[in-house]
Amino acid sequence: MCNLPPKFHSVCRLCLSFCGDNCSDVKLPIFDRDKDKSRLSEMIMTYLSIMVSSEDMLPQVVCGSCAHKLDEFHTFRELTHKSERLLEQFVQYANSLSGPKEVSNKTYLFHKH
Ligand SMILES: [Zn+2]
Repeated sequence: MCNLPPKFHSVCRLCLSFCGDNCSDVKLPIFDRDKDKSRLSEMIMTYLSIMVSSEDMLPQVVCGSCAHKLDEFHTFRELTHKSERLLEQFVQYANSLSGPKEVSNKTYLFHKH
């Protein structure tokens, strides 16, 4: 179908790193053999907005360094979402303590206008 060099499919899909036969950096497959989706493909699409498909003609592997970065990104995302939940809970808690005061303030403002 096309004249791609065989090594084209051994470069990292994300950073284009390529190293020869003696390289210790093992490339990780983006897709599991018997699944349409995998953790790596989901992270690439969610965090990088890069569409990957097991049927596209592009490399289907990523290098260890990129996989590590995706993992870090994932951990960072989990942290930020957890923080968001905690902040919201705190505001709810604070509101519940100063509930009536808050309401009367709003009522006051409402009547003022
Ligand atoms: Zn890479």
